[in-house]
Amino acid sequence: MQAVDDPLLSDFQAQITERPLMNSFGGLLQTSNLIGGKWRDANDGTTIDVLNPASGVLLGTVPNCGEGETRLAIEAAAEAFADWSRSNMSFRVGLLHKLHDALLDNCEPLAQLLTAEQGKPLAEARGEIAIGAAYIRWFAEEVRRAKGEIVPAPTADRRLMVTRHPVGVVGAITPWNFPSSMLARKLGPALAAGCTVVAKPASATPYSGLAWGKLCQDVGFPEGVVNIVTGSAHAIGGAIMASPDVRKVTFTGSTEIGKVLIRQSADSVKKVSMELGGNAPFIVFDDADLDAAIEGAMISKYRNMGQTCVCTNRFYVQAGIHDKFVARLKDATEALKVGDGSEDGTQQGPMIDEAGVKKVEAMIADATAKGAHIVTGGKRHAKGGTFFEPTVLTGATSDMQFATEEIFGPLSAVFRFEVEDAAITAANATEFGLAAYAYTRDIGRVFRLNDQLEYGLIGINTGLVTTVEAPFGGLKESGMGKEGGSQGLDDYLETKYMCVAGLDG
Ligand code: NAP
Repeated sequence: MQAVDDPLLSDFQAQITERPLMNSFGGLLQTSNLIGGKWRDANDGTTIDVLNPASGVLLGTVPNCGEGETRLAIEAAAEAFADWSRSNMSFRVGLLHKLHDALLDNCEPLAQLLTAEQGKPLAEARGEIAIGAAYIRWFAEEVRRAKGEIVPAPTADRRLMVTRHPVGVVGAITPWNFPSSMLARKLGPALAAGCTVVAKPASATPYSGLAWGKLCQDVGFPEGVVNIVTGSAHAIGGAIMASPDVRKVTFTGSTEIGKVLIRQSADSVKKVSMELGGNAPFIVFDDADLDAAIEGAMISKYRNMGQTCVCTNRFYVQAGIHDKFVARLKDATEALKVGDGSEDGTQQGPMIDEAGVKKVEAMIADATAKGAHIVTGGKRHAKGGTFFEPTVLTGATSDMQFATEEIFGPLSAVFRFEVEDAAITAANATEFGLAAYAYTRDIGRVFRLNDQLEYGLIGINTGLVTTVEAPFGGLKESGMGKEGGSQGLDDYLETKYMCVAGLDG
């Protein structure tokens, strides 16, 4: 086992006796990797530790695989592609429906596993499993409508056909904040389309990804169709990006790593889809329904302890409603129950790691040094570890760190604005373009916002926009490609055009 090199976490851990796993999470806790239908360890036997962020307790280990094991997984996926890509669509759809049912049948152990490794409240974890299952069902249904085209030919002796084909082996790299549903959004369309997959879950939260491997195996996906490899990001990512057999890479994670992968994709001209970082504005106009705005603010800010790519990063509140909004946001923030995500009623769990806590602390220090005022919270929670007090801060200005950087923590930064144009200009003043929210009852303004906000996802009078039926994806440096919706399948299909000539005899 590798030592924990995080000083605060190792102190925290030292106070707790390491104990054996008492709960195998319904048999879904897999401590090996799935490669070519077999459960394997790393070639050199090394492992990485997986900790429960709420307690610092070691949950278990997973293999510390690298280039060699990843190459094996790619070979297995390439071999499996030959039959899988030509299998009956009804066979693939049938397996996906079985997978959907298996996810829901195992929702409780999967949710507990997710909370144990990631920290989010159990209620949110259950929701994540349910939406993951919904993505699988959506793509099982959607692939039946992945139609081609017969195109009118310019001459009578020709017929022009446009057909769609699975792209090939897919490399899927996922983050720690939604370790289950981010994999669902990649596995669903890939498997439906007839692609095979080599997936690499985040090292902090690998068990949710490995559980997907177990369920895929249990419901009967053929060997090599789904492979899950854990370990060194650099080595596994490098092998995926270098392989000419991997025709597409789908990545969800930071913009920084996304850019590295885009550069690496050039050598073998891979298709890439990128779901990257965000910096979501949440604009509250004077005419907003205040109750609705507070409800949306709480869900868009504090879900997953503020650690989602679509979390509100910047609240812009119009002068006429500013003070009322801040007072209500303060009350609602102070009412949040902080605790271990597995305990009843918890609404805010721990943050994922010490680095995340330090980033939030640094942002608060930067803001207060530049004149911001802490309304509530502002420091580590008395529970210790990586728990942090949900925080509201006013007097935010464009020179503060969070104006341009993703917070990824439970910190609400409130900016004040006077006129619509100023709010839109400020909202767009970032290289990110994932989610934006606005509260107003002016229908003309709603359409101006749709025209002018440079964001891939826009929530009007709601703080929650994600649904399987709609395309999820960012503009600008928040990424390329869409997940979900009818568009979510496109990236996994190649388009071919065939011209049949000489038909006049
Ligand atoms: P990250 O550090 O970029 O890591 C994401 C994944 O990439 C992990 O599996 C990581 O592995 C892997 N990785 C790291 N370096 C790599 C490399 N050189 N080559 C190949 N893979 C590599 O992001 P994160 O901290 O896990 O996730 C948070 C970020 O994800 C935030 O910026 C958030 O906004 C973004 N996100 C975006 C969306 C979206 O849909 N747009 C959704 C969720 C999250 P290790 O864990 O082993 O390092």
